[in-house]
Amino acid sequence: EAVVHWFKRDLRTTDNQALSMASAKAKSLGVPLICMFIVSPQDYQAHLTSSARVDFELRTLEIMKEDLAEKDIPLYVTTIQERKEVSGHMLQKFEEWGAKHVFCNIEYEVDELRREAELVKRCLEKGIAFTAVHDDVVVPPGTLKSGAGKQYSVYSPWLKAWTKHLHEHPHLLEASEPPSHNPPTARTTFSTLFELPIPSAPPNKSLPPSDRTRLAHLWPAGEHAAQTRLHHYLATKASAYKTSRNFPAAPATAMLSVHFSAGTLAARTAVRLARAANKPAQRLETGDAGLVCWISEIAWRDFYKHILAQWPFVCMSKPFKYEYSDIEWDHSPQLFAKWCEGKTGYPIVDAAMRQLNSMGWMHNRCRMIVASFLAKDLLLDWRLGERYFMEKLIDGDFASNNGGWGFSASTGVDPQPYFRIFNPLLQSEKFDEAGEYIRKWVPELKGVVGKAVHDPYGRGAGEEAEKSGYPRMAVEHKVQREKALERYKEGLGRG
Ligand code: FAD
Repeated sequence: EAVVHWFKRDLRTTDNQALSMASAKAKSLGVPLICMFIVSPQDYQAHLTSSARVDFELRTLEIMKEDLAEKDIPLYVTTIQERKEVSGHMLQKFEEWGAKHVFCNIEYEVDELRREAELVKRCLEKGIAFTAVHDDVVVPPGTLKSGAGKQYSVYSPWLKAWTKHLHEHPHLLEASEPPSHNPPTARTTFSTLFELPIPSAPPNKSLPPSDRTRLAHLWPAGEHAAQTRLHHYLATKASAYKTSRNFPAAPATAMLSVHFSAGTLAARTAVRLARAANKPAQRLETGDAGLVCWISEIAWRDFYKHILAQWPFVCMSKPFKYEYSDIEWDHSPQLFAKWCEGKTGYPIVDAAMRQLNSMGWMHNRCRMIVASFLAKDLLLDWRLGERYFMEKLIDGDFASNNGGWGFSASTGVDPQPYFRIFNPLLQSEKFDEAGEYIRKWVPELKGVVGKAVHDPYGRGAGEEAEKSGYPRMAVEHKVQREKALERYKEGLGRG
């Protein structure tokens, strides 16, 4: 007999609600806790999960397996090729282990909810209890309602409600208990589970060894690495966040997104520790401006998950603003390829795309610049960019990615108004004034001095750019801007 915790995007042993509950249940029943994780290549394919992310998860599982084994808790990890077989396999294991009760943390995407619903039904038919709890967000979706009793679709009033709710419900920020030690007999009863290795990445998502080594160095996996980065960030950089966060050359943001999205760090933990660092007030909304601003960014993550849970149609390639369903986009695989490869001739855009392709991560300011550029300069459907991001990002998260694209393409919830179109050259001069970021990621422009780095052909460094093979601008911003305004206006008229 046993109690089971099913790990998904909550890959940590500390401050994990469902794991904590599973452990308490196992203790009260006097049976061992077993943990499981299913590698599902077809899910990775369907959700466009990047190879970098799969690798990060598998590296994390190696660490978790050891941590859990220290408490005599086995972690069963297996690959199930066919997506439709996942729940059947899990059920078979539950029966084999004599599972009394299964716990997991809820994921809010439609596919995941359907999978969970099926599993719950099948468990209950077999007399196995099933508990799914909120953990991925700080405030559970559906909790915050506007004066009219509805889900907010604008961030600022939502943030006020979020903050107020956390003051009124302080338990939401409390840490959950770590799992207790299993009875030592678990070692012998489930000895085969302890011996099973963590599988390697499925062929559709495997990385060349050199990339694995590089990414492992860039993005150390597991909850211990997350905690170290969080503590270091809060102690050394978070206070400057408000003023420094928009400049991609300086590593001024936390670079914790991969941990939040894989669940190696709970948003709850980060908000709790940031609040504690905000001395003496220890508040969420007043005190150290950097910490307050950082907390409000983590809140964006909650905001987009609330939107997804309330309006699941955003999962179905539909814009949040239905009146923008009918914008006319250009069809140009050539321009799209230039954008993907970082060869548009706009140095800031190219630097950002090359950072993404190399690191699996891009600075937030640059995510906004390249997203706006795709939709409003190249006039390509924002959904192409949304997909490409998911395929490359190590921190890919459906709700934040979809929200970010909707914001930048002006089709999403609480978006940038469509007539506010970023000028990529001005963005470049404002946020990468010295051209440090550009020179780092676009080696062709390394030798270009001064402001010409933002626009080599337009500002007197054309010869140098040509020699080094840097492309000319693929489109002209001024012309495309007018077209974009027209298209959005027309689309709005039709919608
Ligand atoms: P910090 O600035 O240190 O912020 C701390 C945390 O707050 C982040 O780790 C993240 O969890 C959260 N956060 C910050 N900004 C946002 C935001 N705008 N929306 C939601 N959460 C936020 N973030 C993802 O985690 N996954 C994505 O797939 C993703 N796609 C994006 C696509 C576009 C087009 C845009 C404009 C933004 C996207 N973001 C996404 C949000 C943001 O760019 C990243 O969270 C951030 O750059 C991560 O770096 P950091 O950890 O250093 O962030």
